[in-house]
Amino acid sequence: MSIKENLQSIQNDIPERVTLVAVSKTKPVEMLMEAYETGIRDFGENKIQEMSAKWESMPKNVRWHMIGHVQTNKVKDMAEFVHLVHGVDSKKLLLEIDKQAKKFGRKINCLLQIHIAKEETKFGLDDNELDEILNDGDVLNLQNVEIIGLMGMATFTENQAVVKSEFKHLKKLFEQHKIKNPKFTVLSMGMSGDYPLAINCGSNMIRVGSSIFGTR
Ligand SMILES: *Cc1c(COP(=O)(O)O)cnc(C)c1O
Repeated sequence: MSIKENLQSIQNDIPERVTLVAVSKTKPVEMLMEAYETGIRDFGENKIQEMSAKWESMPKNVRWHMIGHVQTNKVKDMAEFVHLVHGVDSKKLLLEIDKQAKKFGRKINCLLQIHIAKEETKFGLDDNELDEILNDGDVLNLQNVEIIGLMGMATFTENQAVVKSEFKHLKKLFEQHKIKNPKFTVLSMGMSGDYPLAINCGSNMIRVGSSIFGTR
């Protein structure tokens, strides 16, 4: 199937309240443009250098999502244009994003990444660390970042019950913090293999790569 057909079938599948982020990492600009021409404006990348090169050559109304782990020293290379940073997992990173955003007179939207999977991945906050960051005086005072929600990745497994319980847990955390913070609006969960389940569990932003552009 073509990129266009893949996108059509996904979009027919998902409710309007759900934002589809087309994950285009490793794919050439020509393929991104095919998606762009069908109306896609949200693209996800996991390397700042690659995202920046694509930003240079793509139309300027694209919204660039940084979905990978962010190294503090690279923040400056995306501060001018990034739309949403999904993988924020430390106070240090938030402070750096704030500092770099200030240079461009911008406010950069961020999601805090939560470690919901059973497997040992390196990244993501646990529930206590999330509380700590959201109640941190320095973080609360940041003028150039806005924390607008949460992001998570479920365990890579065929076991739907496990994936479901992880998504439900993230949704619960999201709702708990949403009560205290009206800025909390985005729950980013679901990829090619699990987005229907993620949406059932309350996701309103999915990050889909291989189901659109093919395997990497
Ligand atoms: C690559 C990636 C995706 C997309 O994965 P697919 O299985 O290709 O849909 C989603 N989220 C993150 C964080 C990724 O790194």
